[in-house]
Amino acid sequence: MKPSLEHAIDRLATPLPDSCLTGLQDRTAALRAIADQLVAEADSLAQLMAQEMGKPVSQGRSEAEKCAWVCRYYADHAEAFLADETLETGRAESFVTHAPMGIVLAVMPWNFPFWQVFRFAAPALAAGNRILLKHASNVPGCAAAIERIITQATGRDDLLVHVTLPGKEVAELIADPRTAAVTFTGSTQAGRQLAAACGQHLKKCVLELGGSDPYLILEDADIAHAAATCAKARMINNGQSCIAAKRLIVAAPVHDAFVELLRHELSQYEMADPLDPNTRLGPLARTDLRDTLHDQVQRGLATSARLILGGKIPQQPGPWYPATLVAGVRRGTPLFDEETFGPVAAISRVHGASDGIELANATHFGLGAAVFTEDLDLAHRVARQLKAGTVGINAQVVSDPRLPFGGTRESGWGRELGRAGILEFVDSKTILRE
Ligand code: NDP
Repeated sequence: MKPSLEHAIDRLATPLPDSCLTGLQDRTAALRAIADQLVAEADSLAQLMAQEMGKPVSQGRSEAEKCAWVCRYYADHAEAFLADETLETGRAESFVTHAPMGIVLAVMPWNFPFWQVFRFAAPALAAGNRILLKHASNVPGCAAAIERIITQATGRDDLLVHVTLPGKEVAELIADPRTAAVTFTGSTQAGRQLAAACGQHLKKCVLELGGSDPYLILEDADIAHAAATCAKARMINNGQSCIAAKRLIVAAPVHDAFVELLRHELSQYEMADPLDPNTRLGPLARTDLRDTLHDQVQRGLATSARLILGGKIPQQPGPWYPATLVAGVRRGTPLFDEETFGPVAAISRVHGASDGIELANATHFGLGAAVFTEDLDLAHRVARQLKAGTVGINAQVVSDPRLPFGGTRESGWGRELGRAGILEFVDSKTILRE
């Protein structure tokens, strides 16, 4: 192993608390200090994100503030989440107690370069773990800023250390006996390789992979609200979100009106400098990602799909791609079957709810989904039948520190956030006395 990697793991290999409750007050105080620093630096962190991966600064500022929220959330709730649990068995004592696992390797993506890290790091640190961060290679400044903020705010350099190495070489960090567990957010393809390495070395992992979230718009929906929500849910982070609204499945009676409303909404997203506070659509993170997206659109248009808006690479330097709307998308074609990571909305037409559920579930993914209808009973029935980790009813799927978040099927396994998230990286121990 390279000396820099050895050094990083050595720094993290300091003694752990014997229980998640030992020293918890110090750790929750540390999380509050980290939150304060994130808020104080929100503007400069937003500029860093804009420069490294093109996120509009208004969204980058919100991302930094959301990271502060998740730190404060776990500072407030960790004690209750991690408390010993007494279970009645008729014995003198029987209870479950939790201890930190140790060094958790976090392999993270560039799309929410702070949030993806902090939504794992806040509960993991609260529980007493250490973090070895391998961030995406295109956001080195964000990786360094995260380590600096945690070190400065806590006065400790053994809580989170970032390392620089290509994703393909992560296996040696997984193999190292000092690595206790792994968390990964990124593509399904990289997730498969990482999970294989974890399997080989029997290391627990949590996987938050890609998604192709279906948004089902039924014939009694408030279609103006649905179109506005779908536009927002598709365009967040220049369309590069695992829980973006990627497949819009619309009942035939409202199809044409919905397409027109959505075309109008999406045409409000003009490509502009991500450093301008008014910008809603910046460039994509990398040219290879833009080229992959355009290729998907081209291959889609070679099938039944028809272009309603955008779809052309602009003549300007940088990985720009316009807000794009494609209708007539069928299953078995690229814009339906593949994850599209950019500002491209794909519309399919269906007859009714059961048809829509079948089409929504006709994917390998299972991260988020949404249904739009004024009939609440129907909405609940549909929500239960959609194969996803989170379902929105007349609402965009978002991550929220208070709610468990994660996928089913090829979107991954395990949960982040809420109580479920903090319990992923603890060793639970049952203690009994006769
Ligand atoms: P990757 O999955 O390749 O990258 C995400 C992280 O995984 C990075 O830190 C990367 O490191 C690392 N990585 C890459 N290959 C491996 C591997 N074999 N084993 C372990 N870690 C690895 O995503 P890309 O940036 O290439 O984006 C490609 C597509 O992935 C996107 O178009 C999108 O569809 C999907 N994606 C989904 C995300 C989500 O939030 N679910 C986030 C990002 C991408 P390095 O940067 O050094 O290669």
